[in-house]
Amino acid sequence: MKRWVKKFIDQFETEGSNRQEYTTEQKEINEEQATVLFVMDTLSKYLLDFESYPTRKARGQIDEMAQEIIKQNPQTLEKAFFRFRQFYSSYRVNEYTYIQKTFDDFRNIIWDFVEQLHGDYEADACEAELKQHFNDLKEAVEANSIDDLKSTSRQFIDTYIEYQFNKDKRKSENIRVFQKNLKTIKKQLNEAQLSMRLDHLTKAYNRKSFDEHIQKHMQLSQVSGDPACLVMLDIDHFKKVNDNYGHQTGDAILIECVKLLKESFGRDQDFVARVGGEEFAVVMSDTNVSAAIDIVEAAMDKIRETVYVEDNHKIQFTISVGIAQLKKNENVDEWLKRADEALYHSKNTGRDRYTVSGAEKIGKVS
Ligand code: GH3
Ligand code: MG
Ligand code: MG
Repeated sequence: MKRWVKKFIDQFETEGSNRQEYTTEQKEINEEQATVLFVMDTLSKYLLDFESYPTRKARGQIDEMAQEIIKQNPQTLEKAFFRFRQFYSSYRVNEYTYIQKTFDDFRNIIWDFVEQLHGDYEADACEAELKQHFNDLKEAVEANSIDDLKSTSRQFIDTYIEYQFNKDKRKSENIRVFQKNLKTIKKQLNEAQLSMRLDHLTKAYNRKSFDEHIQKHMQLSQVSGDPACLVMLDIDHFKKVNDNYGHQTGDAILIECVKLLKESFGRDQDFVARVGGEEFAVVMSDTNVSAAIDIVEAAMDKIRETVYVEDNHKIQFTISVGIAQLKKNENVDEWLKRADEALYHSKNTGRDRYTVSGAEKIGKVS
C-alpha cells in the first residue's frame, strides 16, 4: 500500500477509533479506493448546512459509505460506490443551487438598496464620485459576478457614508446661515417697521402711529375703566425761532424739544408723538389728571429752564399745554377736540401754561 494511502487510512481509523473493524490488516485498500475515501473525507469536512439537508445527516451518510468501502466486502463494495456517485452528484446540485440563491439574495438586497437610494440621490445635486460609484454598483448588480458586486457595493457604501456625513454637515451649516439671515431680516423688518412709525426729524412717533395708538388705548381704557389723559403741547412763538436763527436751528429746537419730552414723559405708558410742525401729543395711559398735571408741570419746568446753545446763541423756549382726561363713552375725536381746546385756551391766556379741560384749571408754573 502506498504510504500516503496508509497514512490517510490510519488517520481515518484514528478519527473513527470506535470502529474497531476498520484495520489496515483486514483488507488491502487500493489507491483508487483510497482516492474515493479521500474525496469523501474532504467533502465531509466542508459540508454546507442546507435547510432541507442538514450537515449532520450528510455526514452520517458519507460515513456509512466510507465504512462500506473500508470493509472491502465484495457484495456491498460496488453498491457503496454507486451510492456515493449518486450522493455526490445530487449534493453538488444542492451546493450549486444554494450558492446561486445566496448570490441572488445578496444581489436583491443590494438592488433594493440601490432603488431606495435613487430618489434621495436624484433629488440632490450629487457629487461626481458618488455618481460614478452608483453607476458601477448598478452595473455590478446587473452583471453576474459576486466579486464585482462585493467590491463595488463596498466602494459605494464607503462613498455614500462619506457623502451623507458631508451632507449632514452642509445641512447644519445651511441651517446656521439661514437662521443668521432670518435674524438679520427680522431685525431689518423691525427697524423698518419702527422707522415707518417714527417722525424722521425728531424720532418721536409720527401722526399715523399716534392715530392708531390713541384709538387702541382709548378703547382699552373704556373697557377697563382705567383713567387716561391726553396732553397736547405746542411750542410758543416757534416762528420767531425760525425767523431769528434760521430753519436749521428751528429743526434742532424741535429735536431738543422731543428729547426733553421723552425724558419727562418717560414711563412705559407714555406715548410721545409729533402731530404737527411744532405740535406734540402725549397719550398717558393708566394716568389720572392729577398725575398728568404733575408730569406736565415737571416737563414745562425742564423745557423752560433748558438753554439751547448754537452758534453762540443761547436759545430758550416754552410750551403751552392742554390736558384732557378721557370721559366715559367719549370717542377719540371728542377727546382730541377737548385737549386741543384746552391748549388753545393756554395760548389765548398768555402761553407757557397748561389748561385742564373741563376743570377750567389753568396753571402757570413760574
Ligand atoms: P404760537 O405760539 O401761537 O404757537 O406761535 P408759533 O409761531 O409757534 O406758531 P405758528 O403756527 O404761527 O408757526 C409755526 C411755525 O413752525 C411755522 C412753521 O414754519 C414752523 N415749522 C413747522 N414745521 C417745521 C419744521 O419741521 N422745521 C422748522 N424749522 N420749522 C417748522
Ligand atoms: Mg406754536
Ligand atoms: Mg402750532
